[in-house]
Amino acid sequence: MDNTLVCDLYIGGEWRPAADGRRMEVVDPATEEPVTSIAQAGREDTLAAIDAAAAAFPDWSRVPPWERSAILRRAAALLAERAEDVARRLTLEVGKPIAQARAEIQATVECIDWYADEARRLYGESLAGRTPGQRFFVSYQPVGVVAAFTAWNFPVVLQARKISPALAAGCTVVARPAEEGTGAVTELVRCFIEAGVPAGVLNLLTGLPQEISETVMDSDLVRKLSFTGSIPVGQHLIRRSADTVKRLSMELGGHAPVIVHEDVDVAAVAATSVVGKCRNAGQVCVSPTRFFVHRRIKDAFVEHFVEATRRLRLGHGLDPETDVGPLINRRRLEFVEKMVRDTVADGGRLLLGGRRPADLNRGFFFEPTVIDDVPDEARAMREEPFGPIALMTSFEDFDEVIARANALPYGLAAYTFTRSMNTAQRTIDALEVGIVGVNTYAAATAEMPFGGVKHSGFGRENGRQGIQDYLDIKFANVVM
Ligand code: NAD
Repeated sequence: MDNTLVCDLYIGGEWRPAADGRRMEVVDPATEEPVTSIAQAGREDTLAAIDAAAAAFPDWSRVPPWERSAILRRAAALLAERAEDVARRLTLEVGKPIAQARAEIQATVECIDWYADEARRLYGESLAGRTPGQRFFVSYQPVGVVAAFTAWNFPVVLQARKISPALAAGCTVVARPAEEGTGAVTELVRCFIEAGVPAGVLNLLTGLPQEISETVMDSDLVRKLSFTGSIPVGQHLIRRSADTVKRLSMELGGHAPVIVHEDVDVAAVAATSVVGKCRNAGQVCVSPTRFFVHRRIKDAFVEHFVEATRRLRLGHGLDPETDVGPLINRRRLEFVEKMVRDTVADGGRLLLGGRRPADLNRGFFFEPTVIDDVPDEARAMREEPFGPIALMTSFEDFDEVIARANALPYGLAAYTFTRSMNTAQRTIDALEVGIVGVNTYAAATAEMPFGGVKHSGFGRENGRQGIQDYLDIKFANVVM
């Protein structure tokens, strides 16, 4: 079967190759075989997409919210119909097990559907003024052209978390997904188009980011950028946004601590922690990474964790028996290999994994890895591993563990396991993060806000808060 999909740019309502004809290939990370041929957008294409989005903005921003809502709802329904095909494409392009790809598409459907509703709920405010006959009004208006840049680890849902609230708010969009995952995102864009999104309202640029990004950042027509990716790239984009004073949303890296108290069912928490850690081979911004386990249960916890990790099956994501797929590319593979070496050199004790599997000699596979007794100063404890690496350490008391959990500049997600409501509430209050899971690793859901604090970024996606990032506030002082 030839799996190669050919993807073009979508600009001003037309599918077209890059102006200079450049293309690039995306490989299946499990086989290293090409699976998608994508157009490489350059400066000329980017300017055309921005112009198309700017030209479409006045009309789209005036489309009544109920009509925008109906279009989004149709897009969600189309994606639901095509879910299986899109999930398979997603697995081929980014390697995640097919069940996880299906879950990503389901989350995407829910996100679009949620913003179909939120489009109709952009309430303003009014207040009596200071003098008789005076009224104060606050209304919300779409910010204008929005650029949406996203990472490859959840390529479809990450784009949907930007496109859906932007369209719901009345903004127009220039979307640039990561090169890996482009085919699956192209299918998402098709759903919006076939649902009735008018020409120019949603534009898709594909390929390596450099030229696209620089052109977008220089443009005064682009009024907002929403970015999901690493902290260094986010910092670069924040600096680059100064000249045009763009509004920004930044969904950046994380380094989630997990605080396991002594009152839990140790085997059960260890088992669920392995599933949480190895989801998408650990390439998740909210992946549980620093396991702070109470001293009295630490050895038992680590033993159960290692046993459950040993049972995981690595393989191609389309094989339904696979628990863990490959890493996304060779660069990430070399990064995590070095991260493990450095962490062991820094004093960690390697209990499991730490290498490429002997029986899989193609693809970017890496064995799920457990390192025990990791000093807080070790490299992986300070720097986001973004791979299947679990770091174990112990703690004695509450204040100590909170201080250690909060010690990094990251502030995205954190988790705690306890049966005590009191401990849970104190932990929620004390952690410097945007998201806390208590007895669960589920960190994202369409109806609740997702995002970080500190170097993990600002702005929120999902929930009723997510659409606010795409709206400007206008105050009117009316004296009649
Ligand atoms: P990265 O920042 O290097 O790349 C992310 C995306 O941005 C890729 O598509 C890349 O091509 C693109 N990119 C790179 N340079 C760019 C530029 N100058 N302008 C515009 N786009 C550019 O990160 P990565 O290593 O590929 O992705 C993993 C990172 O993303 C991790 O740090 C992870 O925590 C983070 N992430 C965060 C969230 C979140 O919601 N907070 C979600 C997923 C991933």
